[in-house]
Order: sequence, then structure tokens, then C-alpha cells
Amino acid sequence: MAKMSEPRELLLHELGDILYAENLLVKVLPQLSREASDRELKQGFDRHLRETKQQVENVKKAFKALGAPAKAEQCPGIEGIKREHDEFVKEEQPAADVLNAFLTGAASRTEHYEIAAYTGAITMARAMGEKQVVTLLERNLKQEKETLRKVETIGRRLAREGARQARENGGSAASRTRRSTSSARSRTGGRSRSSTRRSSSRKR
Ligand code: FE
Ligand code: FE
Repeated sequence: MAKMSEPRELLLHELGDILYAENLLVKVLPQLSREASDRELKQGFDRHLRETKQQVENVKKAFKALGAPAKAEQCPGIEGIKREHDEFVKEEQPAADVLNAFLTGAASRTEHYEIAAYTGAITMARAMGEKQVVTLLERNLKQEKETLRKVETIGRRLAREGARQARENGGSAASRTRRSTSSARSRTGGRSRSSTRRSSSRKR
């Protein structure tokens, strides 16, 4: 296999990586929307699905501007973020409020990943004088940054609500925790709530 030697090849590789990630997110976002019971979070996922579909088109246009066929490259980074989500939901079977809070974290990780990818690609395109590519990718980057800001705001609200509810109803909060860490508890022999939770978050 030939060794990559040109910045242009690297930019095309990065665009392929981004295209793969955006295509995967078009499939995943409807599932995240179904999982979210918080109205604002659900609406956020629905809005970002519409944006992500535009982003796929913008990335394809960027390929076109470079005179290259739009080719997705498998992206283990985004697959890892998805797998982390899938395993958490399957193994922990989180209660609705815990799942909402978890989804804000998963969404934040995704947006940070995308922001890093777009920032790098824009840096290369700008250095190469590919102005049209810069404009297209900056459109996407702006949406990712705005999405991150919104999801962080929702995450702060959910964390406050969760902590307040746990203080107000110690009993029901404890039962929620027991449900959400049932798999961890079976391994740890049902130790105290906090140690169970710690071992649950450390186990992977
Ligand atoms: Fe995106
Ligand atoms: Fe995004």
C-alpha cells in the first residue's frame, strides 16, 4: 500500500472520517431522541438530526470542491463513543432521569469529537487556500459548537434536578440507584450505595 505523502490526501482522509461519523449520527440521533424523556433534550436531538443531514451534504460538497469523490472512511473514534453508550444502556438499564443525564454526557463527547475533527480539517483547508471547503466546514463547526453549548446547559439543569430530587426523596433515589447499578451490585455483593456507584463507573 502506498504511503501517504500529501497534505491533500490527509485532508481527504479526514473528510472521509467526518463523513462516516456524520452518516452514523444520522442513524443514531433518532434512537437518542427516543431514549430521551426530557422534552428539551429530545427536541435538541431532533433539531441536531436535521442539522446533521445538512452537514452530510456540506461534507459531500467539500469533496466536490476538492475534485474528489465523496468517500467515507470507517471512523473507530465515533464507533467507540456509540459503543460506550450502547453498553451503558444495556448493562445499567438506567432509570429515565439517569438516562437523560447520561445522554447529555454522550452528546457532549460526540460534539467535542466533531469539533476537533472539523477544526483540524478547516486548518488544513485554509492553509491550502481551499476557501470553499473552509466555508462549508465552518458552517458545520458552528452548528457543533452551538449544539455543545445547548447540551451542556441541559446537562447542568438535569444534574441540579437530579441532585435535588435525591436530597428530597432519599428512599426513592436509593432505589433508583439500586436499579441502575444492579449489574455492578451483583459483582460487588451489594456494598454501600456510593461504593457500588464508584465501582460501576470504573469497571470498564
Ligand atoms: Fe455533526
Ligand atoms: Fe454534532
